Amino acid sequence: MKLVKNENEEINQNISDKEAEEAFKKILQWIGEDPTREGLLETPKRVVKAFKEYFKGYKEDPKIFLDKTFGDVNGYDDMVVQKNISVQSHCEHHMAPIIGVAHVAYIPKDRVVGLSKLARVVEVFSKRLQTQERLTMQIAETLMESLDAKGVAVSIDSTHQCMTMRGIKKEQATTVTNYYLGQFKEDLSYQNRYLRFIAK
Ligand SMILES: [Zn+2]
Repeated sequence: MKLVKNENEEINQNISDKEAEEAFKKILQWIGEDPTREGLLETPKRVVKAFKEYFKGYKEDPKIFLDKTFGDVNGYDDMVVQKNISVQSHCEHHMAPIIGVAHVAYIPKDRVVGLSKLARVVEVFSKRLQTQERLTMQIAETLMESLDAKGVAVSIDSTHQCMTMRGIKKEQATTVTNYYLGQFKEDLSYQNRYLRFIAK
Protein backbone atom coordinates (compact mmCIF):
# COMPACT_ATOMS: atom_id res chain seq x y z
CA MET A 1 0.00 0.00 0.00
CA LYS A 2 1.30 3.43 -0.93
CA LEU A 3 1.22 6.10 1.73
CA VAL A 4 0.24 9.60 0.70
CA LYS A 5 3.24 10.79 2.68
CA ASN A 6 5.69 9.33 0.21
CA GLU A 7 3.93 10.66 -2.85
CA ASN A 8 3.84 14.22 -1.54
CA GLU A 9 7.13 14.53 0.29
CA GLU A 10 8.91 16.21 -2.59
CA ILE A 11 6.02 18.54 -3.36
CA ASN A 12 5.50 20.01 0.08
CA GLN A 13 8.97 20.15 1.55
CA ASN A 14 9.77 23.47 -0.12
CA ILE A 15 6.75 25.39 1.09
CA SER A 16 7.38 27.37 4.24
CA ASP A 17 4.86 28.30 6.93
CA LYS A 18 5.30 31.90 5.83
CA GLU A 19 4.27 31.10 2.26
CA ALA A 20 1.23 29.18 3.51
CA GLU A 21 0.30 32.18 5.70
CA GLU A 22 0.52 34.45 2.65
CA ALA A 23 -1.83 32.14 0.77
CA PHE A 24 -4.40 32.29 3.58
CA LYS A 25 -4.06 36.07 3.63
CA LYS A 26 -4.97 36.07 -0.06
CA ILE A 27 -8.01 33.90 0.63
CA LEU A 28 -9.15 36.34 3.33
CA GLN A 29 -9.00 39.15 0.77
CA TRP A 30 -10.74 36.99 -1.78
CA ILE A 31 -13.76 36.38 0.48
CA GLY A 32 -14.06 40.15 0.96
CA GLU A 33 -12.13 40.65 4.18
CA ASP A 34 -9.45 43.06 5.23
CA PRO A 35 -6.56 40.94 6.51
CA THR A 36 -4.96 44.02 8.10
CA ARG A 37 -7.78 44.61 10.59
CA GLU A 38 -6.94 43.75 14.16
CA GLY A 39 -9.05 40.63 14.52
CA LEU A 40 -7.54 39.03 11.44
CA LEU A 41 -3.89 40.04 11.79
CA GLU A 42 -2.86 36.75 13.36
CA THR A 43 -5.47 34.64 11.57
CA PRO A 44 -3.27 33.28 8.74
CA LYS A 45 -0.73 32.17 11.34
CA ARG A 46 -3.42 30.50 13.41
CA VAL A 47 -4.94 28.80 10.38
CA VAL A 48 -1.53 27.41 9.38
CA LYS A 49 -1.16 26.04 12.90
CA ALA A 50 -4.65 24.51 12.78
CA PHE A 51 -3.99 22.99 9.35
CA LYS A 52 -0.83 21.37 10.69
CA GLU A 53 -3.05 19.63 13.21
CA TYR A 54 -5.83 18.73 10.74
CA PHE A 55 -3.31 17.20 8.37
CA LYS A 56 -0.61 15.86 10.64
CA GLY A 57 -1.30 12.38 9.31
CA TYR A 58 0.93 13.02 6.29
CA LYS A 59 3.94 13.02 8.57
CA GLU A 60 3.01 9.86 10.43
CA ASP A 61 3.37 6.20 9.54
CA PRO A 62 0.51 4.21 11.14
CA LYS A 63 2.56 1.03 11.08
CA ILE A 64 4.86 2.21 13.86
CA PHE A 65 1.90 2.06 16.26
CA LEU A 66 1.41 -1.60 15.40
CA ASP A 67 5.04 -2.67 15.84
CA LYS A 68 4.57 -3.79 19.41
CA THR A 69 2.23 -6.75 19.80
CA PHE A 70 1.63 -9.14 22.68
CA GLY A 71 1.66 -12.92 22.42
CA ASP A 72 0.63 -13.63 26.00
CA VAL A 73 -3.14 -13.72 25.59
CA ASN A 74 -3.89 -17.20 26.95
CA GLY A 75 -5.18 -18.41 23.63
CA TYR A 76 -7.74 -15.66 23.07
CA ASP A 77 -8.82 -16.21 19.49
CA ASP A 78 -12.13 -14.42 19.05
CA MET A 79 -12.66 -11.00 17.55
CA VAL A 80 -11.60 -7.82 19.30
CA VAL A 81 -14.08 -5.05 18.56
CA GLN A 82 -13.51 -1.39 19.30
CA LYS A 83 -16.54 0.81 18.78
CA ASN A 84 -17.22 4.53 18.44
CA ILE A 85 -13.69 5.74 17.76
CA SER A 86 -14.21 9.38 16.86
CA VAL A 87 -13.27 10.38 13.33
CA GLN A 88 -12.42 13.93 12.35
CA SER A 89 -11.21 14.10 8.81
CA HIS A 90 -11.51 16.33 5.72
CA CYS A 91 -12.92 15.41 2.35
CA GLU A 92 -10.49 15.69 -0.51
CA HIS A 93 -13.05 17.29 -2.81
CA HIS A 94 -13.95 20.33 -0.71
CA MET A 95 -11.56 20.18 2.25
CA ALA A 96 -14.71 20.20 4.38
CA PRO A 97 -14.86 18.30 7.68
CA ILE A 98 -15.98 14.69 7.87
CA ILE A 99 -17.18 14.01 11.41
CA GLY A 100 -18.24 10.63 12.69
CA VAL A 101 -17.22 7.38 14.29
CA ALA A 102 -15.28 4.32 13.26
CA HIS A 103 -15.76 0.75 14.47
CA VAL A 104 -12.79 -1.54 14.11
CA ALA A 105 -12.52 -5.29 14.66
CA TYR A 106 -9.82 -7.86 14.13
CA ILE A 107 -9.37 -11.56 14.78
CA PRO A 108 -5.88 -12.19 16.14
CA LYS A 109 -3.77 -15.06 14.84
CA ASP A 110 -1.57 -15.36 17.90
CA ARG A 111 -0.74 -11.82 18.81
CA VAL A 112 -2.83 -8.86 19.94
CA VAL A 113 -2.07 -5.17 19.90
CA GLY A 114 -2.57 -2.51 22.60
CA LEU A 115 -6.16 -1.29 22.40
CA SER A 116 -5.29 2.38 21.98
CA LYS A 117 -3.28 1.52 18.88
CA LEU A 118 -6.42 0.73 16.88
CA ALA A 119 -7.63 4.28 17.47
CA ARG A 120 -4.16 5.58 16.56
CA VAL A 121 -4.38 4.01 13.12
CA VAL A 122 -7.81 5.60 12.59
CA GLU A 123 -6.32 8.93 13.68
CA VAL A 124 -3.32 8.88 11.32
CA PHE A 125 -5.37 8.15 8.21
CA SER A 126 -8.10 10.61 9.27
CA LYS A 127 -5.63 13.46 9.45
CA ARG A 128 -5.19 13.50 5.70
CA LEU A 129 -7.48 14.58 2.88
CA GLN A 130 -9.76 11.63 2.38
CA THR A 131 -12.71 9.98 0.82
CA GLN A 132 -14.61 7.92 3.39
CA GLU A 133 -14.28 4.85 1.20
CA ARG A 134 -10.49 5.10 1.02
CA LEU A 135 -10.19 5.89 4.73
CA THR A 136 -12.14 2.74 5.57
CA MET A 137 -9.97 0.57 3.34
CA GLN A 138 -6.66 2.05 4.45
CA ILE A 139 -7.42 1.39 8.11
CA ALA A 140 -8.49 -2.19 7.35
CA GLU A 141 -5.56 -3.05 5.10
CA THR A 142 -2.99 -1.60 7.47
CA LEU A 143 -4.37 -3.58 10.43
CA MET A 144 -4.61 -6.78 8.41
CA GLU A 145 -1.05 -6.50 7.16
CA SER A 146 0.67 -5.22 10.29
CA LEU A 147 -1.08 -7.51 12.76
CA ASP A 148 -1.03 -10.52 10.46
CA ALA A 149 -4.65 -10.93 11.58
CA LYS A 150 -7.09 -13.66 10.55
CA GLY A 151 -9.61 -11.00 9.65
CA VAL A 152 -10.35 -7.30 9.92
CA ALA A 153 -13.61 -5.35 9.73
CA VAL A 154 -13.87 -1.56 9.63
CA SER A 155 -17.01 0.58 9.50
CA ILE A 156 -17.29 4.35 9.41
CA ASP A 157 -20.48 6.30 10.00
CA SER A 158 -20.11 10.02 9.41
CA THR A 159 -21.54 13.28 8.22
CA HIS A 160 -19.81 15.23 5.48
CA GLN A 161 -20.01 18.97 5.92
CA CYS A 162 -19.69 19.42 2.18
CA MET A 163 -23.17 17.86 2.07
CA THR A 164 -24.67 19.49 5.14
CA MET A 165 -23.34 23.07 4.83
CA ARG A 166 -23.22 23.51 1.08
CA GLY A 167 -24.41 21.91 -2.15
CA ILE A 168 -27.38 19.68 -1.52
CA LYS A 169 -27.60 20.72 2.19
CA LYS A 170 -28.91 17.52 3.68
CA GLU A 171 -28.14 18.04 7.38
CA GLN A 172 -29.34 14.62 8.50
CA ALA A 173 -27.57 12.53 5.89
CA THR A 174 -24.94 10.18 7.22
CA THR A 175 -22.73 7.90 5.19
CA VAL A 176 -21.84 4.37 6.26
CA THR A 177 -18.95 2.44 4.74
CA ASN A 178 -17.83 -1.09 5.60
CA TYR A 179 -14.79 -3.07 4.60
CA TYR A 180 -14.11 -6.71 5.43
CA LEU A 181 -10.96 -8.76 5.05
CA GLY A 182 -10.09 -12.40 5.74
CA GLN A 183 -12.50 -14.27 7.97
CA PHE A 184 -14.94 -11.36 8.13
CA LYS A 185 -15.24 -11.43 4.36
CA GLU A 186 -15.31 -15.21 3.94
CA ASP A 187 -17.51 -16.22 6.87
CA LEU A 188 -20.84 -14.41 7.13
CA SER A 189 -21.38 -15.63 10.69
CA TYR A 190 -18.37 -13.53 11.78
CA GLN A 191 -19.59 -10.59 9.79
CA ASN A 192 -23.06 -10.87 11.34
CA ARG A 193 -21.71 -11.12 14.88
CA TYR A 194 -19.55 -8.06 14.25
CA LEU A 195 -22.53 -6.13 12.90
CA ARG A 196 -24.57 -7.09 15.97
CA PHE A 197 -21.77 -5.86 18.27
CA ILE A 198 -21.48 -2.48 16.59
CA ALA A 199 -25.27 -2.02 16.42
CA LYS A 200 -25.56 -1.95 20.22
ZN1 LIG B 1 -16.66 16.92 -0.11
